Amino acid sequence: MTRRKYVVGNWKMNGLIAALDEAKAIFAAAEAHSSVDVALCPPFTLIGAMVAAAPGAAVGGQDCHASASGAFTGSVAAPMLADAGASLVIVGHSERREGFDESDADVRAKAEAALAAGLSVILCVGEPRAVRESGGAIAYVLAQVAGSLPGDFDPARLAIAYEPIWAIGTGLVPTVADVADMHGAIRAKLGEQAGSDAARVMRILYGGSVNGENAAELLGAGDVDGALVGGASLTAAKFAPIVEAAASL
Ligand code: PEP
Repeated sequence: MTRRKYVVGNWKMNGLIAALDEAKAIFAAAEAHSSVDVALCPPFTLIGAMVAAAPGAAVGGQDCHASASGAFTGSVAAPMLADAGASLVIVGHSERREGFDESDADVRAKAEAALAAGLSVILCVGEPRAVRESGGAIAYVLAQVAGSLPGDFDPARLAIAYEPIWAIGTGLVPTVADVADMHGAIRAKLGEQAGSDAARVMRILYGGSVNGENAAELLGAGDVDGALVGGASLTAAKFAPIVEAAASL
């Protein structure tokens, strides 16, 4: 089974209207690499404008509420993302799990809400540094997968992003062997939980300090189908080489 490479930029809480030129440059650069699926997840406030600035491009949210509407001041529901033109959403990013106390059950509910709204989902998992150092990283991440994965879903619309927390924004990356081991373990778990056909289709992205220099090595590791990129997704100069690396594999 050949899975198309998938490179997704997470702009986090960065980007004003002036940043749309950068988004257009990123999508223009991505057009040269038709074997790679490219998406950008800007802040909520930029989704509609980015969709208008780059028609046909894949634009997503960074989070959604588990309810479709209601008295949840400050939150954004999955149908609202879809209504703004988003086609995907990230759920369970460690900055949400840790900073907003999101449990596996919360992440699962958000993923289910997103799928019900017609969005594709990037579901993030990843261990803290102490867990990696204690040797428990694989067990920790597989428990997150077990607790966060929706019960029933279209495997083409749900990707997992393995993002070791200690690698996010730090410049540290796991060894390629550790990445391959983790991705292989996640795929085996997906097979147990969702069936082997689904596990063959589902993409598993690596995230954590990916840049133009290390992308080819990390994306070339076993069972790695792409990257979720934070800091290096903010400019075309930094993001395009990652897409190029994915296309070269
Ligand atoms: C992220 O926040 O998803 C991420 C991977 O960030 P960075 O690439 O900056 O480590």
